Amino acid sequence: MASETCKACDKPSLRKFIDFGQMPVANAYVREEDIRNPSFEEYTYNMAVGFCDVCNMVQLTETVPYDKYIIPDQIGNTKYAFFSSQSDVMKRHFAGLAEEVENKFLAGNVGRSYNRRVVEVGSNDGIMLQAFRDRESVLGIEPSSNVARVAQEKGIETIVDFFSQNLAEELADEKGKARAVLTANVFLNIYDIHDFMNGVNELLDDKGVFITEDPYLGSILEQGGYDQIYDEHVWYFSLSSLKNLYGRHGFEIIDAKPQTVHGGSMRVYASRSGTYPQMPRVKEILEQEEEKGLTALNPFLQFAETTKKNRDKLINLLAELKSQNKKIVGYAAASKGTIVHNFCSIGPDTLDYIADSTPAKQGLYTPGMHIPIVAPEVFRQDKDVDYAFLGAWNHAKEIMSKENAFINRGGKFITHMPEPHIIEP
Ligand SMILES: [Zn+2]
Repeated sequence: MASETCKACDKPSLRKFIDFGQMPVANAYVREEDIRNPSFEEYTYNMAVGFCDVCNMVQLTETVPYDKYIIPDQIGNTKYAFFSSQSDVMKRHFAGLAEEVENKFLAGNVGRSYNRRVVEVGSNDGIMLQAFRDRESVLGIEPSSNVARVAQEKGIETIVDFFSQNLAEELADEKGKARAVLTANVFLNIYDIHDFMNGVNELLDDKGVFITEDPYLGSILEQGGYDQIYDEHVWYFSLSSLKNLYGRHGFEIIDAKPQTVHGGSMRVYASRSGTYPQMPRVKEILEQEEEKGLTALNPFLQFAETTKKNRDKLINLLAELKSQNKKIVGYAAASKGTIVHNFCSIGPDTLDYIADSTPAKQGLYTPGMHIPIVAPEVFRQDKDVDYAFLGAWNHAKEIMSKENAFINRGGKFITHMPEPHIIEP
């Protein structure tokens, strides 16, 4: 097995363990006029993942430029389809985070070192920052102007830009240093992770904390969640790989807490080495990672084997139902679905359409396989559907309770997690 250069530690120790072949950008939905246009060329890249023997970082071997998925419109506004605040679960989740940051890192922060400045990188529509009581002290940085505008309308100061060392230097000069820099589901998207860390170092004051929350590699491996791998996710973090990355920048992990959102995430707290005591659970999680094998190549090779087996199983299951003349459609158009459809070659000959409640996606086609996306009402009125394949298994409960009329008339849902099967009511 050939090694490539690890983008976290620069050593020639990156070992590719899974290759999905050519993939489209997972959220680049295709317009009808593009499908009809014979010269339309959809952007694709080779999606493959490697593990670093030296620093344990798991990463995409080929990355996709930001402008392929943060797409500017005719007048130059950048758009990102997903508005965070549409989810009540996430609203509550971030309210919890804000309260914790206020109590632990801002509350006792009085006198000469008084600093309540909180900066969120990738602040989306302000879902997290709006949970902080002191709105004057929060600042969002968000490259997608359509969601940033929503945050600004809510009164949350938001800069439309990518975070970088240069921007951090400017902000530190103009607005002062921050006590906390936060990111949620953003750090894993950052290509130049060292420039980002230099920026964090510039922006934080001497007692500053850097808090990240991203899908946890341990959960992905445990669940066989290969559909969490896609273009925007450059990195797949374990605590061990973050410890090595932070160490290079003079930072250390002071706390880590597993979260249930997004199929299993980890909230990781870091500061400059020696600033805060380290919570005992950091060591415990690091030890668990050694035991589970997150620090060795072998479990990743096993993950690749299981993924291929599950692909074949799903293809066979759907082919079997089609041979019985069953009508199958998809439910929920999401990045996860794009990966599964393309990896398993599931196209409009298998799924007649995909029902999705996001108006902006209706009327478009899925990336790569070009399955038409329709409103859920179309699905509800279509009494010929026998099976609905779930594109977002993490929302299975919510979807199934919403669509119990379908289940009551004998319709069944299919999921590919943890392995492909028909969900029996
Ligand atoms: Zn490395």
